[in-house]
Amino acid sequence: MKTLGIIGGMSYESSAHYYQRINDQVNERAGGLTCAKMLLYNVDFEPIRQMMLAGDWDGLGQELSSIAKTLEAAGADCVAVATNTMHKCAGVIADAVSIPLIHIADCVALKCAEAGVGRVGLLGTRYTMEEDFLSGRLRENGLEVFTPPLAEEIDDIDRIIFGELCKGQVLDASRQRYVQIIEKMVKEQGIEGVILGCTEIEMLIKPGDVSVPVFDTTQAHIDVLSEISLGIRPL
Ligand code: GLU
Repeated sequence: MKTLGIIGGMSYESSAHYYQRINDQVNERAGGLTCAKMLLYNVDFEPIRQMMLAGDWDGLGQELSSIAKTLEAAGADCVAVATNTMHKCAGVIADAVSIPLIHIADCVALKCAEAGVGRVGLLGTRYTMEEDFLSGRLRENGLEVFTPPLAEEIDDIDRIIFGELCKGQVLDASRQRYVQIIEKMVKEQGIEGVILGCTEIEMLIKPGDVSVPVFDTTQAHIDVLSEISLGIRPL
């Protein structure tokens, strides 16, 4: 078995899903009392969020790189950042360690390829939708990527993530707003699938809530990490 190094806490709501499901999936395949060898470094999200709001991405890159080094020194065979947004610092983190960084965009792109879907909508935080650190990586994986076109749509999606989902609040009105935005992207941008590019959105939107296939970055990351843990996916 390999030892996973996971940087979590952003938010702890989604990191709990990583912890539970990786262990479940490893146990389902290996049986007995087997579970994943895992180092989960849970950050305090509040100061991280303040640094994001202050635009201190250099500081965030240093902070997460230092955590990745701690995980490597503790015996992790790979490192995974359990949030899409912090992949803005993925290059800096990857350069800081000699173990591989398992990029969340590569994991979800695999799912899209398996489903034969090439034209996707991307929902996530403001950073993820407005910048190209995630969409660029998805494009490198051969996907055509579209984000919501209106500022008010981006505002609502971002506000619901940080104001509700990261605090464990799942509200019907917010689900309806997400569904409305996704269906508008289907109609106006011709997307064939939607990537839930934030590790909390799966709490709100489930397959079947919308008319196109849903590709969840949390589950895609978890699936790859479970296989790495079991040693059935090479690093
Ligand atoms: N977990 C979220 C994501 O996947 C947002 C929280 C964060 O900014 O890290 O982007």
